[in-house]
Formats: sequence, C-alpha cells, structure tokens
Amino acid sequence: MTTTREPTRIVTAHRQLEGGGFVVRRPVPTRGLAHVDPFLMIDEMGPVDYAPGEAVGAPDHPHRGFETISYILDGEVEHEDSAGHRGVLGAGDVQWMTAAAGIVHSEMPSRRLQREGGRVHGFQIWVNLPARLKLSRPRYQEVPAARIPQARSADGLAQVRVIAGEALGARAVIDTLTPVVFQDWRLEPGADVTTPIAADHQVIVYVFGGAVALGDGAREVRDGQLAILGAGDVVRLRAASPGDGARLLLLAGVPIGERVVQHGPFVMNTEQEILQAIRDYQSGRLGEITRTADVRQ
Ligand code: FE
Repeated sequence: MTTTREPTRIVTAHRQLEGGGFVVRRPVPTRGLAHVDPFLMIDEMGPVDYAPGEAVGAPDHPHRGFETISYILDGEVEHEDSAGHRGVLGAGDVQWMTAAAGIVHSEMPSRRLQREGGRVHGFQIWVNLPARLKLSRPRYQEVPAARIPQARSADGLAQVRVIAGEALGARAVIDTLTPVVFQDWRLEPGADVTTPIAADHQVIVYVFGGAVALGDGAREVRDGQLAILGAGDVVRLRAASPGDGARLLLLAGVPIGERVVQHGPFVMNTEQEILQAIRDYQSGRLGEITRTADVRQ
C-alpha cells in the first residue's frame, strides 16, 4: 500500500533583484513562507537574454552554516573562492557547495558571456545544515552535465535528471551530508509518473515551465508556483494540459527542526552565532579570494 502525497499549500514566486542586479524568481522565502525545512531559499535566475556587456553576477561574498547548490540550465557561471577553487559551470552542470564553517566566493557570468552576451537560466538553492554540521569543513562537489544520471519512464514521456536522491532507477553521484533529494523533471504531454520519496521527507515541487497536475487529486500547479506536499510515500506528477509539457524541480529533505536565525549569507541557530559569524568574516577568518592579475581586471 502506498499513499500519494497531495499538495497542502501552493505559493507563487515573487521577483526580486539579487547580487550585482540580476532578477530572480523566488518561491522561498516569500511572503508568509520563511523557509521549508530544510530548504532555506530557492532562486530561479532568468531565463534572461543579456546583451554584450550587460550580464551581472554576485561578486565576493561569504556564506556560513548551510549548503548552496548551483544548477545551471543555460549560460556560464565563473566561480572563485577563498579555498582556492576556481572554475566555470556550464549548461547542465551542478556545484554542490557545503559552506559550513565558512567560505568567501564570487559567482559571475563567464568573461565570454560578459563580452558577447547570451542567455542565463539556472537555480541556486540553499539547504540548511543541522547544528552539529554548521561548523564542519567546507567542501565542494562539482559534477559536469555528462555525469548527472538521467532516466526515462517506460512510456518515455517523463524524463528526470537526478542531482540528489534516486528516481526511475537512476541514483545520484552527489553525496549529501543530510538526506536531500534534488531532481529536474521534464514531462511531455500525457506524462503520468509516480516516484517514491521516503515518508520522513518534506517534499516540494517547483514548476518552472508549463503546468503540472499533482497528486491523485490532479491539483494544477503552474509555471512559477511551488507546492508543498503532505504526508505519504509517493509523488505523482502529470502534465496538466494535453497539448503542453512541464518542467519542475522535485526537492525533498528530512526537516532539521532546529531554530533558524538568518542574517544575509549566514544561517545559524542563535543570534550569538550570527554575531560570531560577522566578527569572523570581518576579521578575515572566512578567508579571502586571492586573484592574480590575469584573472580579472
Ligand atoms: Fe554565494
């Protein structure tokens, strides 16, 4: 016997400016919804078409106490950080950064994109860490598009890229510190797929193209909307309209259940820990990015 998870709440993403001035659609946090434990933030960047010289990003900034996941659909993001990592993420690539005790990094459009312009579309998602892991060592997992496992339903109408967790027999290559599911689903018209998610997980679905009919009740969730699902052990996804497909992220994690105190890029359990994070950042203890002249002017 399985129980299908039905939506209990649907919110619409708001738009706002981030970083150096790029627009995001943000379903979490939004008015009346501070976070969905363990997810602190879900940002969809773009899709936006930049003219030459227009593309902007997020210059040097710190993080402490959680993980940031960057998932690029279009464009190129160049990143550098205080631990000496530097690289370019392209379409389909994933960077899973455990900021934990602290890191300073920059996330900018690649120099080619800044020079020539082009399309940028992607996600940044913040996943909280429990108190016992907040000050653990920072780590990176960077996975190129070709190494992200993919699978299709038997009828071929549902396709999934498995960034974390498991779906349709494909298992993620990314290792998570806490149980987290992160899947990018593409539904063709007529798709009707059911996938298990452990009963102790909180499940959310964010639709970023078309419309999805969720659960056995076929509640419609449209482009730019996020649904929080209720208790159960399977998630049922259907393309909502006969002539159109859908894109969605299926996210899930085991709620941490601890107090969340956030100050910008620091997410801790107490105000004192936030003050400590600010002091550590200001005194250079989260590090700084060492740049050589050839990297950027
Ligand atoms: Fe960042």
